[in-house]
Amino acid sequence: MSPPNSPVNSSKPPDRRQFLTDGARWLSVAALGAAGGALAVQHSASAEMRWQIDPNQCIACTNCATQCVLDESAVKAVQCFDLCGYCEICTGYFDPQYQKLDTAAENQLCPTGAVVRIFVEEKAGQKFFEYTIDELQCIGCGKCVKGCALMNGSLYLQVFHDRCVNCNECAIAVACPTQAFVRVSADRPYRMKRLAKQLIEQKAGKSSEARSLLEQVDPS
Ligand code: SF4
Ligand code: SF4
Ligand code: SF4
Repeated sequence: MSPPNSPVNSSKPPDRRQFLTDGARWLSVAALGAAGGALAVQHSASAEMRWQIDPNQCIACTNCATQCVLDESAVKAVQCFDLCGYCEICTGYFDPQYQKLDTAAENQLCPTGAVVRIFVEEKAGQKFFEYTIDELQCIGCGKCVKGCALMNGSLYLQVFHDRCVNCNECAIAVACPTQAFVRVSADRPYRMKRLAKQLIEQKAGKSSEARSLLEQVDPS
């Protein structure tokens, strides 16, 4: 379910400059936004509420992978390119026990290989890589989120509304140790990290994509 322009679906290496200059390249959530839009149309009642994770409160405790009532959790990791450093040694990708620049499965933090690493460019002797989430493989365990929190914190968890059945009492919310689960309007059913939102708000005056993203996220 990657969006059509996702590098995951492309044989052509992405252009890092393009990502750095295009502030609204929050690919996973852009795709979610489309789902959110569909929801809004389906349930035109704007007062309807949905469950969502406040990424500013989440500590990636792993409950999201195990407590959802669905066999496959409705919670997945997303990548916010505005916050990502495109690091060669990504602490959300490599298992710190190894610290080898070898992408073998045993060197990766993700238990399912859902974090996709693609070389972008080399500049002034430094290599840059793009990291995206393969939604079909992600189980919402939050290991990459915890790892990335050591650096830029660009990876974080969100409830995917094309999967979530919107339980009256969300089992994960009950188990969440930090009360990170909140109710948000079905019209704007995603939450951004505070810093990401600030960065995208700064770009909203010039970018229609940024404005469109902001319309899909909870204003709090
Ligand atoms: S580490 Fe866990 S949350 Fe992150 S991509 Fe892999 S399965 Fe998803
Ligand atoms: S509301 Fe239900 S389906 Fe949605 S994340 Fe919570 S437990 Fe899972
Ligand atoms: S249960 Fe709460 S703290 Fe734990 S991973 Fe889910 S949202 Fe984050």
